[in-house]
Amino acid sequence: MPQSYRLVRRDARAERTVVRLRNGATFGGEEIAICAGPCGVESSEQLDAAARAVAGAGANVLRGGAYKPRTSPYSFQGLGEEALKMLRYAGDRFDLAVVTEVMDTRDVELVARYADMLQIGARNMQNFPLLREVGASRVPVLLKRGLSATVQEWLLAAEYVLVGGNDNVVLCERGVRSFDVATRNLLDISVVPLLEEMTHLPVIVDPSHAVGIARLVPPIAVASVAAGAHGLLIEVHPDPPNALSDGAQSLDCAQFELLMRRLAPVVEFAGRRMPARTSSRSGDSAATPDSDVRSSVRGVRLA
Ligand code: PEP
Ligand code: MN
Repeated sequence: MPQSYRLVRRDARAERTVVRLRNGATFGGEEIAICAGPCGVESSEQLDAAARAVAGAGANVLRGGAYKPRTSPYSFQGLGEEALKMLRYAGDRFDLAVVTEVMDTRDVELVARYADMLQIGARNMQNFPLLREVGASRVPVLLKRGLSATVQEWLLAAEYVLVGGNDNVVLCERGVRSFDVATRNLLDISVVPLLEEMTHLPVIVDPSHAVGIARLVPPIAVASVAAGAHGLLIEVHPDPPNALSDGAQSLDCAQFELLMRRLAPVVEFAGRRMPARTSSRSGDSAATPDSDVRSSVRGVRLA
């Protein structure tokens, strides 16, 4: 272990970090976290349908991009603050915590106003000013592995956040570029047990961006949990063929529900628990009229 790791391995054996979000979702404890939702927030109807479905199936964190890092400047770029409002609203409505990507140092404060967790995308893993900014924010951070990042580079990126004073970092393996284009990326599942040895930080897996093919997502999600992942990040869209981004790798709502049922015995086998859902959560709130939605901490209401 290089001298340069000071914080990412602190108490690696003795005390592991458990990142806890506002709705009780945890990363790094006995209970795993299931983050699910569309690649990008496209409309309140789309997000509402996705949130309702993933909450009903037992997920506890809603994902959805408001600022999208697209390869082409002509592709859908995300709806910005409007999408953040929709995420907060849907999150509160279905008792889901919200994770969403922040791409720009100038947006950190704004995104943190709505989200419970800030995602640093693969393309920004070594955006050092951004890492320092989220380090100063104190909001939990989901740090994706860079497209071609070594484990050392990834952990040193986490070190940037920790050194700024933010201990709430979760690592997310999402595959790396390889010579082979048969799958979108090459999932490095070995980092799950490896990082368990190297750092006290929780590690989750994003099988959607790793494989890029929806029908391969369920078996890889199951394998990730069996390997010891503390959670999953899965793209779910109510109408994948018409998604504005990443439709090919998105599960539809029924496929996600089926996956959640397949996951349960494997999670138990791995010595962990599925997210706890109480009766006051998704099932009931899904049927609650908007006017009765429990009051949000931030009180976001759609116009
Ligand atoms: C995403 O989660 O939608 C995303 C863009 O992921 P990544 O940064 O891993 O490509
Ligand atoms: Mn995506």
